[in-house]
Amino acid sequence: MSTDRPHRWDIGEVLDRTDLAALLEEHSDSIGTPRGRRWRCPVPDHADNHASVSMYTDSRGHQRWRCWSGDDTHRGDAIDLVMVTRRIDRGAAIEHLASRAGLQPNEPLPPPLPRKTTQPNGPRPLSPDVVRYVAKCADRLWQPDMLPVRKWLAHRGFTKDVLLANHVGADPGRQRMSRPAGLPRGDGPAAVFPALDPNGVVRYAQTRYIRPSPGGPKFDNPSTSMGSNPRLAWTTPTGDDRRPGTLIVCEGIPDALTAAQNGFRAAGILGSQYPDHSVATRLATYAEREDLTIVAVIDGDNAGRNFGQRLGELIAESGIDLQIIEPPTPGHDLNDWARESPDWADWIAPAIPIDRNLDLRDHEPTTTLEVTTP
Ligand SMILES: [Zn+2]
Repeated sequence: MSTDRPHRWDIGEVLDRTDLAALLEEHSDSIGTPRGRRWRCPVPDHADNHASVSMYTDSRGHQRWRCWSGDDTHRGDAIDLVMVTRRIDRGAAIEHLASRAGLQPNEPLPPPLPRKTTQPNGPRPLSPDVVRYVAKCADRLWQPDMLPVRKWLAHRGFTKDVLLANHVGADPGRQRMSRPAGLPRGDGPAAVFPALDPNGVVRYAQTRYIRPSPGGPKFDNPSTSMGSNPRLAWTTPTGDDRRPGTLIVCEGIPDALTAAQNGFRAAGILGSQYPDHSVATRLATYAEREDLTIVAVIDGDNAGRNFGQRLGELIAESGIDLQIIEPPTPGHDLNDWARESPDWADWIAPAIPIDRNLDLRDHEPTTTLEVTTP
């Protein structure tokens, strides 16, 4: 056989003959959990103490792996795994897997056993329609006819900076803006809150009607065919006073934006269900990597306290403590609290251990130290 030119392998066949679990095992160690096997992230620059990687089989029968730490680039199929761990290009990775599977050019092997799809309800990729909707609404917010939505947002204390940095938008309603089926219905004017990933990329959106119809929903989400709800929405911090060292976690995107405009790293947990293992693992992994103390600012009611307790238990499984702070006025959420007391953020400071504040790394020391100054 000639070796002048690499053989063009059938990628589907190479993947079908590769057992991804065995391959992950070669590059990483695994732990068994009640929800199946998990691996430490094989990406070389990710020191993953939490075994953040799980595996699933997609609708085409291809095995895939994904790291839930919050870095959305840590994912892929067996070829991506070999490329990242062996630092080789795609062609070399396919060649490596073909030879590992015992494939020979022009010598067919018996057909591989069919693989069953293990997660028909696995994560669904985000439709580009959702991203277009978010961009259109973010632009629309600043048009003259969306004054009612801007007023609604201003009444909640949001600054223009935080709205721009987080691509918050206005949906004028379906009478005035057509949209594909599966996007929020547009029953009336609404504020649109995108859910971002830790790098600020749009992953999902929630639409909040500013005047919900009686008995109608306050929030409207894209349908599941348009993408999976990521359950966790990151925000981009703004404001002159950055407060490094703390990750604030709230229920929902609006409260997280309140924290973000006060200079905090902040994430909102989406949905009415309790936080789950995936949410807790992603928060814990991110906080550990960035050396952040996690502070949950809960709603001041029993549901809020239960939420905080549950989240604390889940995060404790990763060996990380959750600080829980409740607004001083019963029934208030963080947004209410911030409107009542603009200095609310200083209440967060005592929860932060001093040594974290002194871990300045690449942050500006003056703003870091302000956190501890009453
Ligand atoms: Zn990773």
